[in-house]
This record gives sequence, structure tokens and C-alpha cells, in this order.
Amino acid sequence: MIIPAAQVDGLDKEFGTTRVLDRINLTIPAGQVTCLIGPSGSGKSTLLRCIAMLEEPSAGIISVGGRPLGFSLENGKRVKLPTAHNREVRGQIGMVFQQFNLWPHMTALGNVAEALKTVRRMPKAQANEIAGQKLDEVGLAHRRDYYPAQLSGGQQQRVAIARALALEPKLMLFDEPTSSLDPELTGEVLNVMRKLAEQGMSMIVVSHEIGFVASVASKVVFLDHGRVVLDGTPQEVFAKPRHPRLAQFLDTYL
Ligand code: ADP
Ligand code: MG
Repeated sequence: MIIPAAQVDGLDKEFGTTRVLDRINLTIPAGQVTCLIGPSGSGKSTLLRCIAMLEEPSAGIISVGGRPLGFSLENGKRVKLPTAHNREVRGQIGMVFQQFNLWPHMTALGNVAEALKTVRRMPKAQANEIAGQKLDEVGLAHRRDYYPAQLSGGQQQRVAIARALALEPKLMLFDEPTSSLDPELTGEVLNVMRKLAEQGMSMIVVSHEIGFVASVASKVVFLDHGRVVLDGTPQEVFAKPRHPRLAQFLDTYL
């Protein structure tokens, strides 16, 4: 049996009395791209944040690479897992946000090397070498000594991707990585993601770039009001006649 990159079983998330995710069941295949689409407020970010342990699920179990994260099920009861275990499993996930969140006082190279030095406790020379390689992979070797303010939005986002890749994740999460970019800069970021997909990285991508979704995803999940409404190949999900809620959603983005 091939172990999925991630598995979500019966995930609920409530904020106070509001249920934002409602019984989510999902398999994220390894080595493929799963795209998450849905209207604003449908729970896409919350789902990614639960997988990245930035939010604590109200119910359900999440596994990454076949290992439970946060909680496990023991004799039918949900129990919290030890911090050391969670840190290790969480360490296999890289995340890229809409906002790049780079350190303004560090160069591109410094931004990518930082976590290698602090989280991985790598010597400076080795961290810088790996950071240089990762910047090269996203096409920014020539910008390594530039500060974020000297880079375009697309370049900053590529630095953020290099920073996540430096920690050698097994699963990459992207939450609307091109939404804060000018249209002419989205292509360079999508191309880096496309290359990563071709290299066999397991990815979950929240994106409204429907052309990218249709061409790169092996699986598309349509969320609405915290529920999985559609889950299938792009051909299946975008097949006509379209699901009425999907048609309504696509009307606002196409
Ligand atoms: P999406 O990413 O699909 O736009 P989100 O996951 O950001 O949706 O949000 C889903 C719902 O959860 C929204 O109604 C949002 O207002 C609510 N929500 C998200 N985060 C919080 C929070 N920390 N506290 C309360 N409500 C939240
Ligand atoms: Mg969101």
C-alpha cells in the first residue's frame, strides 16, 4: 500500500459556536498536487492551518506520511500526542502563505539560511551553502544579497518558497501564494510551483488560478461552507454540467 502524503479523517473545527470545518475526510496522495478551491470563508485556510498545526482541530485525526499529527486515536479515544512527536512530524511540512513574511533586515540568502541555523542548528557556512542552492532552484541565485525591499513581490514569494524547501519538507502547503501579487508576477511563482510538482513534491495548493489548477492538479477538492462538496480529478470536478455551487463559484473567478 502506498502511504498518502496526508490523511484527514472526520475533521471538525469550531471557533466558539461557529463550525468552520464540518466532517472533512480527505486523502492527499503522495508525489502529486491536490488543489483546494472554494469561496472566501469556506474554510480553505483553516484546513491548511489545521494540517500545519497552526490551529487545533475540534475533532478528527490528521496524519502526515502515515503518522498521526497532534492527536491519535487510541481505543476509540482521541488523545494528544507528545510535543516531541508532533514537532518531528510537523517538521516534514513546509508552508507558503499569501504574505511572504520575510525578515526585512536579512538578505534573500539570510532569510533562507535562518531556519537552518536556528531550527536545524546547522553551522553558518553549511546553512549558507544550502540556502544558495535553494535560491538557485527558484531562479534567484543572482539576488542572494538583495534585501526584501529590493525584490519584486514575485521574487519575495520565491524566496519564501526557497526558505520552506531548505528544510526538506515531504509535503508543501501553499495558501493563495499569488493572491497578493500583481498579475504579471504570478506566472514566475506558478512556474516554480509547477517545477516542484514535476519533481514529485507532494503539495496542497489553495489557489484561484483555475488554469494552473486544471493543468497541475491530480486532484481537486471544492470546499463550500466548511464541507467537501466535490473531490476528484480536474476532469471529474470541472465536468459539465457543473455542480451548481461550483458553477456559481467559477463565475466569480473566470
Ligand atoms: P477561506 O480561507 O476559505 O477564505 P478561512 O478558513 O479563512 O476561509 O475561514 C473560514 C471561516 O472561519 C470564516 O468564516 C472565518 O471568518 C472563520 N475564521 C477563521 N479564523 C478564525 C478565527 N481565528 N476566529 C474566528 N473565526 C475564524
Ligand atoms: Mg484563506
